[in-house]
Amino acid sequence: MAEVTIVGGGLAGCEAAWQLAQRGLSVTLIEMKPAQISPAHSTPLLAELVCSNSLRSDDATTPAGLLKAELRQLDSLIIACADATRVPAGDALAVDRHAFSRLVTTRIALLPQIRLVRCALDRIPEGPVILAGGPLVGAGLAREIRRLAGDRLYFYDAIAPIVDAATIDWSYAFRASRYGKRHASDARASDARWGKAPRASPEEGGREGPPGMEGDYVNCPLSEVEYRAFVDEVRRGRKVAPKTFEEPRYFEGCLPIEVMADRGDDVLAFGPMKPVGLDDPRPGAAHPYAVVQLRAENRYGTSYNMVGFQTRLAYPEQKRIFSLIPALRHAEFVRYGSIHRNSYLHSPSLLDEELRLRTQPRVRFAGQITGVEGYIESTAIGLLCARFVADRLAGKTPSPPPPTTAIGGLYHHLVRARQPGEPFSPMNVNFGLLPPLLERAKKRDRRTLHAERAKMALASWLQ
Ligand SMILES: Cc1cc2nc3c(=O)[nH]c(=O)nc-3n(C[C@H](O)[C@H](O)[C@H](O)COP(=O)(O)OP(=O)(O)OC[C@H]3O[C@@H](n4cnc5c(N)ncnc54)[C@H](O)[C@@H]3O)c2cc1C
Repeated sequence: MAEVTIVGGGLAGCEAAWQLAQRGLSVTLIEMKPAQISPAHSTPLLAELVCSNSLRSDDATTPAGLLKAELRQLDSLIIACADATRVPAGDALAVDRHAFSRLVTTRIALLPQIRLVRCALDRIPEGPVILAGGPLVGAGLAREIRRLAGDRLYFYDAIAPIVDAATIDWSYAFRASRYGKRHASDARASDARWGKAPRASPEEGGREGPPGMEGDYVNCPLSEVEYRAFVDEVRRGRKVAPKTFEEPRYFEGCLPIEVMADRGDDVLAFGPMKPVGLDDPRPGAAHPYAVVQLRAENRYGTSYNMVGFQTRLAYPEQKRIFSLIPALRHAEFVRYGSIHRNSYLHSPSLLDEELRLRTQPRVRFAGQITGVEGYIESTAIGLLCARFVADRLAGKTPSPPPPTTAIGGLYHHLVRARQPGEPFSPMNVNFGLLPPLLERAKKRDRRTLHAERAKMALASWLQ
């Protein structure tokens, strides 16, 4: 039997170990607890849920519900244990956290193919290895990973919110690049020149905004009165307090918007909201006092991130305060902004399509450290990584999951080609990661259509 070593007995590591064992492979699973314990963990059990006991919605027409439905079909250990220990929580799959982790620990311990070793590893072991040390990976191993990944291993998330493009009010927005640079018409040619994945053409379902406006950014202008009211609310808004183990030491180039707002009335207007080089082309429009810029988050242009808008504002406050920006008054958020401690890689430039380190292909990564976020997302990447390893060891070429599935959307977010310096931020599962539907439909129906399309794609992939 070929032997694979997995470092980290969290959600991704346990899922990967289980998947490999089911395929007859021998696994050494290394977990540092209880000898060494991260500031968020508190028990010696495997697959510990460090915060909420909810794995989110179980309705298959929501992104989280769809991902869980797919994981069930893929014989996930984590979801099976969650189903077996669920507690009443409406549409959500919530679990008795101790019963859940105990069950995962027992099922792993009972498998003869898995050898569980309790020690903190600070060297990368020999042979095929999956590193699944999670968002708070032990310091020794983090140093080793940093030696391989350089400054492309990050220790903090500073995430800007993402807006559903269909909910932008285009009568208050205009498309343009600063000083008119790099118009959309030549952007595709430029992408090709730099070896980037090409953005989708309208025929492939890509969205380009209203005709007559071109440019890489969607700009949301504010008058001086609107800007001042916005800054006041950002200052006043409720913020999420850092955890005791999170020292909020911010980089000057990546400050939260509330820190900038506190530093002075016009700091945001000279920072991420600066309007220079952005003329509003709409007839009769005055030059904006400030501008929120939105940049496409995917090649289809179905979701946009708010550039430079990392924030610790509480989620309901983000919804309330960002709706003061006229173009975002009805906006729906695919993801809210946040700042927290989180070790993750710039996976698109470091990992190949099998989640292998390009410079050392025997080393793979799984779980949150790859740049997904959340219990089920980390589980999904653990599962995929194990399938890739098992296929390779069986002499087969792994086939990636289709991008129209929830698991495929997450996976493609990690491996879509990007240059080393290009922005990449961790992601929860959401429909913005999937190619847009080709048919027009109401929001409620869109969710059902996404779920149906994903189900068919998963079935043909599994065949
Ligand atoms: C404070 C906090 C709150 C969170 N709240 C939520 C939430 O409410 N909902 C949600 O969906 N997600 C939440 N997350 C994210 C969630 O914890 C992760 O998505 C998920 O646990 C990641 O799974 P993983 O297997 O990649 O890592 P983990 O589950 O963290 O597992 C990693 C394992 O590796 C072990 N390990 C680390 N380094 C070494 C080493 N050198 N040698 C041996 N073992 C090692 C660790 O002890 C741990 O058991 C939260 C994260 C944090 C930090």
